[in-house]
Amino acid sequence: MTNVDLANIIFPDITKTIDDYKNMYPERELKEGQKVTRFAPSPTGFMHLGGFYQAIIDKVLAHNSDGIFYLRNEDTDQKREVKEAVALIMDTLNHYDIVPDEYEYEGNIVGNYGPYIQSERKEIYHTFIKYLIEIGRAYPCFCKKEELDEMRSKQEKYKARIGYYGSYAKCRKLSIDEMIEKIKNGEEYVIRFKSMGDNDKRFFFDDLVRGTLSLPENDIDIIIMKSNDKLPTYHFAHFVDDYLMHTTHVVRGEEWLSSVPVHIELFKAFGVKPPKYIHTPLIVKRDGDSVRKLSKRKDPEATMSYYKELGYPKEAVIESLMTIINSNYEEWHTANPDKTYLDFTYSPKKMSSSGGALYDLEKLNNISKNIISKFKADYLYEELSKWAKEYDNEFYEIITKYKEYTINILNIEREQKKPRKDYENYSSIKGLIWYMYDEYFNNDERTYDYQTITDKTEIKLILNTYFDKYFDVSDKDVWFDKIKALCDELGYASNMKDYKENPDKYKGNVADVSTVIRVAITTSSQTPDLYELLKLLGKERCLKRIDLI
Ligand code: GLU
Repeated sequence: MTNVDLANIIFPDITKTIDDYKNMYPERELKEGQKVTRFAPSPTGFMHLGGFYQAIIDKVLAHNSDGIFYLRNEDTDQKREVKEAVALIMDTLNHYDIVPDEYEYEGNIVGNYGPYIQSERKEIYHTFIKYLIEIGRAYPCFCKKEELDEMRSKQEKYKARIGYYGSYAKCRKLSIDEMIEKIKNGEEYVIRFKSMGDNDKRFFFDDLVRGTLSLPENDIDIIIMKSNDKLPTYHFAHFVDDYLMHTTHVVRGEEWLSSVPVHIELFKAFGVKPPKYIHTPLIVKRDGDSVRKLSKRKDPEATMSYYKELGYPKEAVIESLMTIINSNYEEWHTANPDKTYLDFTYSPKKMSSSGGALYDLEKLNNISKNIISKFKADYLYEELSKWAKEYDNEFYEIITKYKEYTINILNIEREQKKPRKDYENYSSIKGLIWYMYDEYFNNDERTYDYQTITDKTEIKLILNTYFDKYFDVSDKDVWFDKIKALCDELGYASNMKDYKENPDKYKGNVADVSTVIRVAITTSSQTPDLYELLKLLGKERCLKRIDLI
């Protein structure tokens, strides 16, 4: 019996050859310098910030070169519920307008290199594995878990390298007849790659982030096909897919760097050129005095849903990641305020290659406040409304009912040289403007943040006098003149300079008086421009509020 017989016994239904697939997925017609990148997440049901950051790099690289960015779902670990998880990935990318040029969604394949979901590519993988068996570069391995455990203990005991290689690779030594016999007896097996590497030898590898590295050759006979579902392992699927889909640049986490020798050997076994690799540093965060990896379990910000739920503008999330992708991004963006992150020329060399990429929520908040402060009120309203519809239905109904009014509220201290910057994300807005809606204001749990003037009788006197005689919001100067007149009538200094010179002459000053009005109509002593608030609320509603005191 020959390798070809073995291959036919293992894959009796595979009739295509690897050449058939090479013809089906021909080289892409790329112009000089055009890049093909892919985002290849495993649909686990949640999207990690680290994955999203790689997707941004993929998108920017493709965009910079007028190339192609595609999405491939790597679901070879079939334990999970794939359908919803794929939807989550697609929704997240769509939410951020990072739409792939090629992808597969809800049965629709967009692009000529699909399917783009690995579990639908089984026949392709089998064809490539079959070929490897035929040329003697792959074989079935029947080792049971206990045998592999025993091998491992032995290696640990003798301080040998861990793995299935050299004399430890038992099944490699079986004759073809023995292999066929075992298969016919129904023994379970995986398929392993037959490595020809020598761990004592080294080769040079160019990582676009780290530069040229000297790595040991692979000599491990890795599993390329699992026994239960006959799906390939990541390593093999990576080779087949990135080869057939003609990826030019693989952007993936640095945890894959140690697998590079295996991947290079796989490409070599098929006589094809590997893509270029960009191994991205891990995203880390500060934790007390140290810096650690973002953890899905401990850090809510490790998951992309965190940003959507809190209502961070998509621009802010992307920008916060761009600043850790390339440290010169911020400077570039300040110099080019009208350009978007897609116009930025990403350089893998400018990524930090040691210590990880430091992510900081404080920084995101600052970026976000700045970005929101520059939105036009109409746009902010639309974004707020989209967010509220999904996450705060009651607020959504209120801002929908009072649409124009809400836009006016959002417009306070906007479109000016120093716009207000207190909105950190959409979920923080309600807490800052709730008092502008009677539905929220007429709530018995109101507490007033009175400051220097706390005497109820005095408060009432100020308010009654103001609304009886001085309320006028026809113009900001007129409004302020009236407030000053109110101060003069009641014995408060209408001018801070006078007050400072002669504090004993007065009951207080204009700031104290304004605070009384501010607190009475909002409960808060910290609000944006009082004139704007009074104008928007109008006299009638203010009077009703005063009656509640
Ligand atoms: N599916 C792999 C992961 O989620 C992707 C690695 C790669 O991009 O090649 O880690």
